[in-house]
Parts: sequence; C-alpha cells; structure tokens
Amino acid sequence: MTVRISTHRAGRALARTLVCALACASLASPRAHAQDEERAPAPYTAPNNQIRFGNTALFRNLIPPAALEQQSADAYAAIIHEAERNKRLLPNDNALVKRVRDIANHEIPFALKWNDRSKNWKWEINVVRSNEIRMYCLPGGKIVVYSGLIEKLHLNDNEIGMMLGHEIAHALREHARERLGRQQAEQLTAGTMPQLFGFADVGSTPLGIGDQLLAMRYSPADETEADVIGSEIASRAGYDPRAAVTLWNKIDTATRREDNGFVWMHPYGPDRKQDLEKRMSDMMPLYAKAVGKSIDALPNYAGMGRFKKSGR
Ligand SMILES: [Zn+2]
Repeated sequence: MTVRISTHRAGRALARTLVCALACASLASPRAHAQDEERAPAPYTAPNNQIRFGNTALFRNLIPPAALEQQSADAYAAIIHEAERNKRLLPNDNALVKRVRDIANHEIPFALKWNDRSKNWKWEINVVRSNEIRMYCLPGGKIVVYSGLIEKLHLNDNEIGMMLGHEIAHALREHARERLGRQQAEQLTAGTMPQLFGFADVGSTPLGIGDQLLAMRYSPADETEADVIGSEIASRAGYDPRAAVTLWNKIDTATRREDNGFVWMHPYGPDRKQDLEKRMSDMMPLYAKAVGKSIDALPNYAGMGRFKKSGR
C-alpha cells in the first residue's frame, strides 16, 4: 500500500527530507565517495590485513536502526507465536534446538565487533519444524531455523556453523536496512509516499515489515560480504570454513529450481563459489587457531563433521 504525498503535509516534509538525503547521496562525485571511503576506517581488519569491509551504505541511513530492530522483534514474536500455535515450534529440550543454539552461542561472541549495536541485541534462536530449506537472522539478532534445512540437506555442525555465520553477518552489516532504505528511496522518486514501516508519524498506519524481510533478495555484493564476515566469525568459533563450499553446493542443488527459494534470496553462482574458495587461505589460520592445531595438522575436509577441539 502507498499513500500519495499530496495527502499529508507532514508526509511532504518528510519526503523533502528523504529526497534531499537521497539527492545529496546521488549527486556526490565519485571522487568525493572515494575520499569518504578512504577517510572511513574499516570497522575491523584481520591481522593479515586481508579480511576487511569498511564502506557505509548510503541508503541504510534512511531507516532508523532502533525502529527497524523493534519492528523485527515484533515480526519475530509473531512468527514464533504462529509456529507455537501450529505445534511446529521445537521445544527447548529438543536435540536439534540444543545443537543449533550451541553453535550459535559459540559464534555470537565473535560477531559483536562487527556492529556496535549488536552488543545490546537480545539474541534469540528458535527452530521451526518444516520441510522448507531456510534460515534467517532478522535485524536485532532474531534467528529462525527451519528444520528442513538441516534434515533434508544432512548438514553437519561445520555447515550449520557456516550457515549461521552467513545469516548473522547479513544482520550485523544491516543489509536488510539498506534494502528497505533503497525501497523507500525508489518509492519517493516514483512520486509516492514510501511505506514507512512506522518509522515516522505521517498519519498513515504503520505497516509490518515481516513480509518484506522474509522475501528479501540480497545483492551479490551483500552475499560476498556475508560470506567473508560469516566465515570469519564461524572460523574463529571453531567451525571449518571449507564447509561453506559444501553447504552452498547442497543449497544450490536443492533450491535452484524453486521460485523465491533460498538460493534465489542468496544468489550463488560460479563467481561466489570461486570467491569462497579464494578466501580459504585467510580463514584456515583462524580455524586452526580456534581448534588449537597447526594448519598442517588439520585433516582433509570432506563433509565428515566437526573437528575435535582442544582447550574448550
Ligand atoms: Zn546471503
């Protein structure tokens, strides 16, 4: 649903503000962007200086993060409530729930450096019984795993670790916030009042964001960023980064023919696969350190499960 700008004075004021923000963003010269990027420090750089992402997306500034996190929390509560009502929410003592939470809880401490706000997120991890091959982490650290992902693809712990890392990285890097900001900007340039998702009071009913979040299709750049940061987090937590390749091959094979399937939402092609493999030399030292071995002492990976860890 959209609301014509002309029907709301407050809406016009907001629209002018957003259009100005958008215009300023679009009119800045490439040189100015380059200078901004040079000035903006990368939030994190690995010791080998190769794992880094520091550019701030312009569009996400159109969406206040606190409001997005609150709306995500509401959408999450509704999803969990609905699953519970349909007797599809797996209980806390279920083995699969325990397994997924254990892996996520190992990873979360390594995630916090990528987003200052995430230190205050109320992380939640739930598993829904379903044939669907799906997992997501909503803004604010709200994770839903559909059991079909793990059971149908026979994921081992390393693969679950890579999957959780990837989804958590999307949330940490606020890719949904950027997509929604882009959507609002496009609606503005089309001459209509954007769906405000309750981010401003212009007399319109705040609209839920659950559907938008759940149908979101990420860009190849988002995917690469989520791969790199997700693998970094999972490797530091002790999960084998080589599992990212077996994981995405399985997902690709299982969902590539589905409309709006998981691999449609997270585009995966030869370039992305090659990039995953290329980054392995950055990730393996992190993983080896996490499991207390030298890289040479790590066994070959062939999808055979989690390595035995020492010191944990
Ligand atoms: Zn993705």
